[in-house]
Amino acid sequence: MSDQTQSPKHTPGPWFVRHNNPNDRPLEAADFSVESFTWVVAEVYSDIGDLEEAEANARLIAAAPKMKAFLVKQRAEVVCVCGLNKIAAPLGAGIDCTACELDALIAEAEAN
Ligand SMILES: [Zn+2]
Repeated sequence: MSDQTQSPKHTPGPWFVRHNNPNDRPLEAADFSVESFTWVVAEVYSDIGDLEEAEANARLIAAAPKMKAFLVKQRAEVVCVCGLNKIAAPLGAGIDCTACELDALIAEAEAN
């Protein structure tokens, strides 16, 4: 299980999306940036004519701190059922372990 009591190494949320090129003029800067209160976390570029996908990508990135916090909150509400699966497996039964799936996602988000 990941240590969820440590402060995150990532820039604290909330993160916001800024459209850097509202007139859709060709430029070399990123079309969108994902920003915290203190700095730019990510820059998102689009292919020509694909601003909708770029904005969706930026919004997904910006939601990451909230999503991670939700995963950590949900993890505290569930218990690992892998022990039950060891009993159920010979019977051909088994259930997904939400706790372990949450642990894996949180660990992936915290990998360094
Ligand atoms: Zn488990």
